[in-house]
Amino acid sequence: MTDPTLLVNASHPLPPDWEPDDLVDLWEQQPRHFLLPMRREFLSRPAFEAVNALSAAAVAAGFDDFEVRSAYRGYKRQEPLFAADPESGLVAKPGQSEHQTGLALDVGTWKGPFLSDENARHRAWVAEHCWDFGLVIRYPAGKEDVTGVPAEPWHLRYVGRDVAAEMRDRGWVFEEWHELRRTGA
Ligand SMILES: [Zn+2]
Repeated sequence: MTDPTLLVNASHPLPPDWEPDDLVDLWEQQPRHFLLPMRREFLSRPAFEAVNALSAAAVAAGFDDFEVRSAYRGYKRQEPLFAADPESGLVAKPGQSEHQTGLALDVGTWKGPFLSDENARHRAWVAEHCWDFGLVIRYPAGKEDVTGVPAEPWHLRYVGRDVAAEMRDRGWVFEEWHELRRTGA
């Protein structure tokens, strides 16, 4: 099982042959409380269980249309994506994408991408509740200088409940959690 505190960014890339060893096929998981696009998608088991629990809570709160739009992406699959959009900063270089860990996923709804106006209430709900399930908004607005990535309210990362709670309570992004934890701040 992958360490949920594994840090992946431009200065901490993964090797091309790095793969998670606990991927689950999301289509095969039942009960499943979120929607999926019409292709196979995979996540590490703890990340699946976290987003499934988050989605069940969302359904209970009246949101029944959450979709996991993109989950695990291996190194090879990241190559053409980066080649198609090397400039915006929204597509990581191969090896620098958290999607390679199996612990990250992009959410939206069947109505479309998370940034669209009709998903504003969904965005707010996820931002408030993801922490309780061990998921964090990995690239929040206002922390672009720390993460090196433009704000991506749709990109969730599984870090475990304790780390998520600490990041929420301290207002830290993952780079800050790693740095400040190491230095004992
Ligand atoms: Zn993403």
